[in-house]
Amino acid sequence: SKTAGRDTYRFFTPEMNIRAIEKLDQENALRKALDREEFVLHYQPKVDLSNGWVTGMEALLRWKRPEHGVVEPLEFIPALEQTGLITRVGAWVIESVCRQIAEWRHAGIGEIPVSVNVSGRQFSRSTLNQDVIRATQANGIQPALLEFELQTERALRENSIDSDLLELELTESSLMMHAKKTVSILQRLKALGIQISIDDFGTGYSSLAYVKRFPIDVLKIDRSFIQEITTNSADAAITTAIIDMAHSLHVRVVAEGVETAEQFDFLKGRGCDEVQGFYLSPPLPANEISQLLLSGNRR
Ligand code: C2E
Ligand code: CA
Ligand code: CA
Ligand code: CA
Repeated sequence: SKTAGRDTYRFFTPEMNIRAIEKLDQENALRKALDREEFVLHYQPKVDLSNGWVTGMEALLRWKRPEHGVVEPLEFIPALEQTGLITRVGAWVIESVCRQIAEWRHAGIGEIPVSVNVSGRQFSRSTLNQDVIRATQANGIQPALLEFELQTERALRENSIDSDLLELELTESSLMMHAKKTVSILQRLKALGIQISIDDFGTGYSSLAYVKRFPIDVLKIDRSFIQEITTNSADAAITTAIIDMAHSLHVRVVAEGVETAEQFDFLKGRGCDEVQGFYLSPPLPANEISQLLLSGNRR
């Protein structure tokens, strides 16, 4: 009918057209960003709550997009995942982190453990090229896993990095997405000596079951629980329970998004192992992290 036609027509507003074009522009720009070396990593320290020492870093991706300034990951990672580019960018992240670990060692700063965020889509077959799929199918090996594993192994070997300096952070939801497959993926990565952590812990479903099912070294309690930890008794109780449960399973606990001394003290009192957040340090470019570590790595 005429009415329906008019209603349908209303969907295509000029505004939406602009947004669709912007999205295409962004995708095209992302395709070129790796070659043009527009991606950089910032590093955020993690600190041992019992003594204040820096225990390691988390690598966080930034896109220095010309004429747009620094673009935050939440604005472009979904597009990387949808286009499958996340496979290449993810490999670049791991390579860069391994080079950075080697650089810090070379500069006499020490062996700094670094964790890397891994999106579930990096294990997904649809993001791979056909050659890899064909080459691996014959051997009955999961192609996506093999490619990721080989990339990671190569980056470690070429930079002479001990595999236990590398930690992979996977979110609960990406573990959920391919639960069955992921168990075997994680077991193989762990067999290489790599540390595994569950990111944003507490925000997904049936969290506790995961710790038993997956070979986990670290739980990162999501920022949403930490925010009101000193005023909201439910958040305080959940956080305390997560810490106790993790410890009884010999899993380390990191709290993310710690912004105040009160939050820091609360977590220390509850026996949390490590903290990360603006209270200690924001994510910083590698050279600023080097200066920070050279000036004494106690926060
Ligand atoms: P995430 O892994 O949960 O990372 C923590 C985010 O919280 C980071 O945002 C960090 O800058 C921010 N943050 C740290 N301390 C505080 C604090 O005290 N208060 C507040 N309000 N925020 C804090 P960022 O860098 O924008 O990263 C956002 C997300 O993008 C990450 O969340 C992660 O899921 C994803 N991401 C970042 N880098 C990569 C990457 O290399 N690969 C993949 N696949 N995902 C990445
Ligand atoms: Ca993370
Ligand atoms: Ca997190
Ligand atoms: Ca988070």
